[in-house]
Amino acid sequence: GSFNKLDAILAPHRKTSEDYVVFLVDEFFEDEPLTQRIPSKWQDKVIWVNVEDEPTTLQTDAFTREILSVERMPSVVVGIGGGSVMDYAKAVSLMLTNKGESKDFQGLDLIQNQGVYCVVVPTISGTGAEVSMTAVLTGPDKKLGIKCDFTVPDQLILDPDLIENVPNPQRFYTAMDCYIHNIEALNGSLKNEFSIGYAEKSLDLCREVFLDDIDRKIADEKLMVASYFGGLSLTYSMVGVCHALSYGLSYVLHTHHGLANCLVFNQLKEYYPKGVTRFHEMLQKQNIHLPTNVVKNANLSDEQMEKMIKTALDLDFMWYHALGPDWKTKMTPEKARELYLKM
Ligand code: NAD
Ligand code: ZN
Repeated sequence: GSFNKLDAILAPHRKTSEDYVVFLVDEFFEDEPLTQRIPSKWQDKVIWVNVEDEPTTLQTDAFTREILSVERMPSVVVGIGGGSVMDYAKAVSLMLTNKGESKDFQGLDLIQNQGVYCVVVPTISGTGAEVSMTAVLTGPDKKLGIKCDFTVPDQLILDPDLIENVPNPQRFYTAMDCYIHNIEALNGSLKNEFSIGYAEKSLDLCREVFLDDIDRKIADEKLMVASYFGGLSLTYSMVGVCHALSYGLSYVLHTHHGLANCLVFNQLKEYYPKGVTRFHEMLQKQNIHLPTNVVKNANLSDEQMEKMIKTALDLDFMWYHALGPDWKTKMTPEKARELYLKM
């Protein structure tokens, strides 16, 4: 029931009648009871967000323009939804105070100014976007986050009641994003005691949620915390082989992040043997059947295939973390192609 605290969280930011709040809300909730509980006042603005495609720089700029053109600067941006909406809220909050196009800020520490106060409320759990220092956007030439200290949301509400109706397989795919964040954070040169501590606890929670027979309500509470800890583990460390290949897959095929990660991770036994074995146990226990031959059946042109491989291999900081300084001898374009064709 902690969603009920949102009004109180916003209250100190409504100092004068001029102050207003922008709510970015997943379109899914437009006709759902949650809409009635959004504490919006007459001067606020509610923007419904379509998340059929993952967040783009173009849409981020469109939201920012929409807000700046008709209103004064809002005092708060609230994102209510999954990783997609939370990333839009984080990115829009930054773009409101940093001049230019969001594509020019994809990368590390390119943002100059602190954003508008940003509150996020996850309605599906796994991405860790509720706590991470990146807002992942697909731009004209790459899928890459706006990453810096300012990207971390200022406030967050974790309310497991909001995720109680998320259907499978979406619930599983998004949750596996968390599981994979932990495995990748633990297996690489950037791991440290913070990332290890958060990842190990998060993995315990994932195991309880997906392998033990526990009540869904209790499971949802554990899953929300697992996602939060997973987001911290990757923030202190780095993602690896799965995320690099998954970004390439999503860039070309528009496969959503959770599913894309599952398709990739399914093929990574040589990199993460224990993690993949447990992933297979969870798939089986939850009766999830992953789509097969997704890349082969897409009949990609040579150019598309090369774009997929290049998008993945350009993420050198992920490869460096996962495979070491000589990663280019271990992950060649041919090897990436071979893995993609198995997915
Ligand atoms: P999502 O936000 O795209 O939502 C997936 C689906 O679930 C949508 O159809 C949505 O409408 C639906 N949904 C959301 N809440 C629901 C509810 N309560 N009940 C029923 N349906 C609901 O999915 P996601 O997996 O949470 O987010 C994926 C995005 O997050 C990707 O764009 C990815 O790049 C990004 N991401 C960001 C970070 C980060 O650190 N910023 C980390 C990982 C992933
Ligand atoms: Zn992820």
